[in-house]
Amino acid sequence: MTFREFYSLYLDELKSIYSKGETAAVTDTVFRFFAGLSRTDLITKGHLIPDEKVSSALKVSLLQLNENVPVQYITGEAWFSGLRFRVDKNVLIPRPETEELVQEAVQFLKGSIGKNVLEIGSGSGCIPITIKKYAQGVQVLSVELSKAALDVSEENAAANKVDIDFRKMDFLNENSWKDLPMFDVIISNPPYIPEEQKHMLDKNVSLHEPSIALYVPQNDPFIFYRKICLFAKTRLKQTGMIFLEVDSGAAQQTAEIFSEENFITKIKNDLSGNERFVIACK
Ligand code: GLN
Repeated sequence: MTFREFYSLYLDELKSIYSKGETAAVTDTVFRFFAGLSRTDLITKGHLIPDEKVSSALKVSLLQLNENVPVQYITGEAWFSGLRFRVDKNVLIPRPETEELVQEAVQFLKGSIGKNVLEIGSGSGCIPITIKKYAQGVQVLSVELSKAALDVSEENAAANKVDIDFRKMDFLNENSWKDLPMFDVIISNPPYIPEEQKHMLDKNVSLHEPSIALYVPQNDPFIFYRKICLFAKTRLKQTGMIFLEVDSGAAQQTAEIFSEENFITKIKNDLSGNERFVIACK
């Protein structure tokens, strides 16, 4: 089979899973990664037959895509704020909205030396690593419950040449807070999807992304935000700021958790116009 025939097969098979635009984007990502070909390269090289290794990678990838495996887990990489992150099924794939969250924090921190940042829920490490990269003088502690995720985030910090203090910790357990200092910034994109809403998610999310990163108990969907609020009462410095990503339908309720404890809050929209971020200070 030639490259062009493979390409047509991809477009044809994936259209039942993805929109037209996504199908083209996913196909381009796979071709670029495994064959080193861009879409325009296909004009001049489309008639060629890939070697054995490439053709088997293209076949296996198509099978995986048909099983709703996200393309980032197939290539093992995701791009976030211009940086490359290794990802696997143990970590959430970094989302573009989260880039906006990080940008808010970086803007607040930039130029300051020695400020202390706490990130809750490392995942791939995209938040703490990007903060450290773009607001260099700060110290970042990132806590995570999953050992498998921590292995990935530590590898990503090394690959991106930044020094982050990663710590395995169950943040929901208040006893784990006792050794933590005061912070200038607390930032998190915590799990917030009530478990019973699993069936409403895209299959590539619900079947393949890690449950621990996504779901919260139906009877307490704001559990992470409540704990962060409680923590911030004593551990956020008077001049500090909290940056949170939220479910777009839950921004008001999240902000209320904080305003009820006398924080000043602001809701910010993401670039798609959804209420996506809650920013709070004392
Ligand atoms: N901090 C990571 C991210 O934003 C992981 C978040 C999570 O697992 N809920 O991608």
